[in-house]
This record gives sequence, structure tokens and C-alpha cells, in this order.
Amino acid sequence: MTHFDLAIIGAGMAGASIASRVAGGRSVIMIEAEAQPGYHATGRSVAFWTESYGGPDVQPLTTASGDFLAAPPPDFSPNGFLSPRGALHIGKQCDRQVADDMISEFAASPLHFDRLDQADIASHLPDVGEEWSEGVWEAGCSDIDVAALHAAYLRDAAKNGANLLCNNQVTNARFKDGVWHIETARESFTAGLMVNAAGAWADQVAAAAGIAPIGITPFRRTVLQVETNPAIPVTAPLVIALDGSFYFKPAGDGRIWLSPHDETPTQPCDAAPEEMDVAVTIDRFQQVGGWNIAKVEHKWAGLRSFSKDRLPVIGRDPSNPQFFWAAGQGGFGIQTAPAIAEISAALIRDQTPVLAGVDSTKYAPERFR
Ligand SMILES: Cc1cc2nc3c(=O)[nH]c(=O)nc-3n(C[C@H](O)[C@H](O)[C@H](O)COP(=O)(O)OP(=O)(O)OC[C@H]3O[C@@H](n4cnc5c(N)ncnc54)[C@H](O)[C@@H]3O)c2cc1C
Repeated sequence: MTHFDLAIIGAGMAGASIASRVAGGRSVIMIEAEAQPGYHATGRSVAFWTESYGGPDVQPLTTASGDFLAAPPPDFSPNGFLSPRGALHIGKQCDRQVADDMISEFAASPLHFDRLDQADIASHLPDVGEEWSEGVWEAGCSDIDVAALHAAYLRDAAKNGANLLCNNQVTNARFKDGVWHIETARESFTAGLMVNAAGAWADQVAAAAGIAPIGITPFRRTVLQVETNPAIPVTAPLVIALDGSFYFKPAGDGRIWLSPHDETPTQPCDAAPEEMDVAVTIDRFQQVGGWNIAKVEHKWAGLRSFSKDRLPVIGRDPSNPQFFWAAGQGGFGIQTAPAIAEISAALIRDQTPVLAGVDSTKYAPERFR
């Protein structure tokens, strides 16, 4: 039976980024259930880096990831992964307090916001309805090239000697004599440390390894790619409703990606959009401004998986320190991936993570035990 120092379960953004950071000097295997890594949440994201997204306890992870995403080391990628866009948070008169609260919530952070009135909002987004009078501008928001980032992590992991095995779902794991005995439907391995980067399946993977689940719940989110008339310019910002009822951003060629910001709890699965959510998405968008939806070109859904306090779970399980959690990345697992991978790599090496502005103890699994 082949032995590895580390077996990483799941090769989405979490598994690939951790593999890239821990391989080299250690034997590593990423075991992925699907034929392609990135098939689930990682391949379905809306691809933005917005420091306020996820709240003040997620923001340090996003901010700490920014430099790497903007200008990675040349041997990792010759190009950065961010393209500036800006985020426009908008609301109606009844959302005035929400806008003010959003700014005060981040008062202790390095983030900068501008408070906008109706005229400012219209200058960022011509054709928006006049009732959208409360706004917050977050200039630092960028698009992320998710596919390029994920590919770069997988490439770097491979360069450092990590193996990737697809089409192999881990069905059972037992810790015996200080080693994990891991079974997939087709193969068996042993490993010193098991890293749970299984996204929506994180609790199931824990249960298969005899570790108590931590309470990671997948929530379905719907996205449509639509053509609008008139077209929303490609330079328009990411537009997020302050009441959490929609967001959209340009996707090139007069198209936008549009979501009703839905969050339906579900079982881990290959998520697909529900017709009712599609109808709600269209209805909400048509109330934002003077655009009609000319065509729904594409629609998809993905799972955003959260712990009970909506913060990621990063670290060794107290019941068995050879079981490592990298789960609960919710709706921010791309924009925080570099920081989460650095924290994970340090903890796996039994070092204290050092990332400016980040208190990694907030994300430790102990808080649920
Ligand atoms: C619609 C949508 C929009 C989003 N937008 C953004 C955004 O703009 N910015 C942002 O930062 N984040 C965004 N996210 C969140 C982000 O996509 C996720 O947080 C991130 O992709 C999670 O990565 P992951 O590797 O943990 O999960 P996944 O990509 O789901 O990877 C987990 C992998 O584990 C594998 N696996 C599961 N069980 C097993 C098993 N038993 N054996 C082997 N393999 C297994 C799965 O096949 C899967 O490939 C969005 C998510 C969605 C759904």
C-alpha cells in the first residue's frame, strides 16, 4: 500500500492551495472524487475579491491574500490574478442605517469606503432607478481569475511533487497505529496526516474517518448569465444590494452575472438552479433600473458551505491532531485562499502562523468542541 505524509481530500481551491504550500520535502496526495478538480464550488464562483464580503472576521483573510493575488512570485505565475473593478453597495431610503452600519462595522479595519448619494450612485451606474439613494463605494474590489489561480496552485503543487488522483471518492478512513488507512472505491493508501478540504462534503469526510462532524452546512446559490438591453458597460462595478437581495457584475460582451444572493440549505450534491430562484432573480433585477433581460444565456448553482459561526475552520481536530480541517470557506474561499493556505501550511508544520492582521486562533476547530 502506498504511503504519503499527507493525504488531502478534495482538490478544489482549498485542497490545491494547501498542497502547493506543503508539498516539497513531504510526500503529498490530493484525492479528488470528480474527474476534474474544481468541478464543485471552485468552478462555480462569481470570481470577486471584495474585502468587506463575509464580514469583519473574514476581512483579515481577504486583505492578507491581496498582495499574493495581485502580484504572485514569478515562479508561481508570471501574471497576477486580480483586475480592479470596484464594488457599489446600493439600497433605498429604508437601507440608510444598513449603509452607515456597514461602514462602522469595519471602522477598526484598514478598509476605506465612500458614502454615496443618489447622484453618486447614478454616476457609477447610469440607468439605475432613482429610488436607489443610499450607497457605499468600495474601490478596492477586484475580479479574480479563478481558473488561472486554481490551475497555478495545481501546477505548483505538482512541481513540488504532489500527486493528484481524480475519480476517487474517499469512502472510509481509519486511524490505526499512528497512520490513516484511507480507502476509495478503487484504491487504498496510508497517510500520516489527513487534510479535510472536501467543501460541502467536509462533515461527511469527517464521519467517514470516525471524527465527529463540526456542523458544516452547504447552501445553494444561483447565478444567471444574462444579456441586458441596454447593455451594462463592461467597466461597471460589482453591484451588491445592501439588503442582501441581489448582486451582479459585468461578464464581458454586454453580459452580466446576476445572483439573487439566495442561500438555501441543502445536502452536499451537484447543485443545479431551481426554476423559482431563476424567476426571483429576474424579477429582482428588473426592479433595479432601466434594463431588460434580453436573454438568459446560462444558469448555474453552487454550494457555499458554512460553519455555524460562518467563519472557516482551519486546524487540527482536538480529538485526533492527525486530522486537519480546511473547511467552511463559505462565499469567500477564493479571495481568502492564499491566507488560508499559509495558515494551514504553518499549522501542519507545527509552526505559529504569522500573517499581518490575522488572528488565526479565531478559525480553530476547538471552538466547536
Ligand atoms: C455561486 C457561488 C459564487 C461564489 N463567489 C465567490 C466569489 O466571488 N469569491 C470568493 O472568494 N468565493 C466565492 N464563492 C465561494 C468559493 O467558490 C468557495 O468558498 C470555494 O470554492 C471553496 O473551495 P473548496 O476547495 O473548499 O470546495 P470545492 O471547490 O467544492 O472542492 C471540494 C472538493 O472536494 C471533493 N470531495 C468531496 N468529498 C470527497 C471525497 N469523499 N473524496 C474525494 N474528494 C471529495 C469534491 O469533489 C470537490 O471537488 C462562491 C461560491 C458559489 C457557489
